[in-house]
Amino acid sequence: MIESYLVLARKYRPQMFKDVVHQEIPINALKNAINHNRVGHAYIFFGPRGVGKTTIARILAKRLNCQNPQGEEPCNICKSCVEITKGISNNVIEIDAASNRGIDDIRELRESVKFNPMGGDYRVYIIDEVHMLTMQAFNALLKTLEEPPRHVVFILATTDYHKIPETILSRCQDFTFKKVPTLVLQDYIEKIAKIERFNYDSEGLFWIAKKGDGSVRDTLSFMEQAVTFTNGNLTGKQIIKIIGYSGIELQIELLHSLLKEKHPIKVFQTIESLYSEGGDLQRYIWEFVEFLHSSVLIRENIVDREALNYPLEDIQKIQKQIFNYSPDLLVFLSEKVYEIFEKLTMLRLRNSYEVKVFLEINFQKLIRQLNQPSLSGILEKISQLNEQVKQSFIQISEEKTQTSSTTPETQNTSSIVDLETSLKEKFSGSEIDPNTIPKI
Ligand SMILES: [Zn+2]
Repeated sequence: MIESYLVLARKYRPQMFKDVVHQEIPINALKNAINHNRVGHAYIFFGPRGVGKTTIARILAKRLNCQNPQGEEPCNICKSCVEITKGISNNVIEIDAASNRGIDDIRELRESVKFNPMGGDYRVYIIDEVHMLTMQAFNALLKTLEEPPRHVVFILATTDYHKIPETILSRCQDFTFKKVPTLVLQDYIEKIAKIERFNYDSEGLFWIAKKGDGSVRDTLSFMEQAVTFTNGNLTGKQIIKIIGYSGIELQIELLHSLLKEKHPIKVFQTIESLYSEGGDLQRYIWEFVEFLHSSVLIRENIVDREALNYPLEDIQKIQKQIFNYSPDLLVFLSEKVYEIFEKLTMLRLRNSYEVKVFLEINFQKLIRQLNQPSLSGILEKISQLNEQVKQSFIQISEEKTQTSSTTPETQNTSSIVDLETSLKEKFSGSEIDPNTIPKI
């Protein structure tokens, strides 16, 4: 199984700049440097893991030593290119600073820098996780960076830019690498799924890409794992089972139980079934927070699809189901559920049973709040009642005027004012929850 994982991640490792996903800014800068013959002696490649830092460093090393370059790209055919691709070239030295972080390792490197490249123009040193070097090692490296031989290029890759000493940074050109958006990753793995002839749907690929969290390498690793688990059947239904996602249907159901039925039974049933299946309740509540937040964004129509962390199919389902709820009500609910999640996180409860009880208590409280009439709702009701009372007084007074003209009209008006005051006093007291609940 591990073998096949390595195969997929390696098989699709880009060998040319044009094949790298979503890193146009550093790539264009490097291409410009190549075109104008201004390749620097030291670069910092900074960015999250698995987005192509080492890959681009290798492509650059290949292009610089290529015997038959194709514009800014390496040929990938000449002896030098083939050796670099195979990882057997003497002109590309890769050091993992996480495990070679001491001064001796860097001294060794300084010695080797003096040698001329063999079968190429440059020796390229790729130091991965460079922030792991000791201070002494950094100082030793600095001496080399101060007077680098003409044929040497250093590429210092890191995920922790702020851990690199200022003295080193000032000698290097910085390139920032970005996280890859989920939809870009989804498109990328769709191409691979087609080549590999996996069975898939867009929902399945979306969840694989989301699991990769911006990293091409992690996405491919998870894709490989998913292929093994599902026997090459990368559908939404299969993938959400692997990642342990409860699915959009359950979220929608919980939403309706809270806002439409406003009864704890359905909510308790959902919590109970997740609990008895051994599901992670805390994670489920976080998923519900995410769902409610996205529902608000969808309902208010304020974001495009890129910003929503759901596959298209789910977004359409959400759109359909929340249409009847007011944005204010959804905002209110998302804030309340977030508060529950926050409290739950801080409490660090001992086991899932305690989490279950905590959620039941808090959701019951929430339903009670939802069932309470809002202050604005009550005031509206009072004004409606007033109007009705006025109407009926006018009617009675008209009837009386028709039969006798002795009753003064002022008496009716003062009765209306008294009633209005007494109703307001009664309803605007402290019994009303200050958390005004928006109307549906
Ligand atoms: Zn070549």
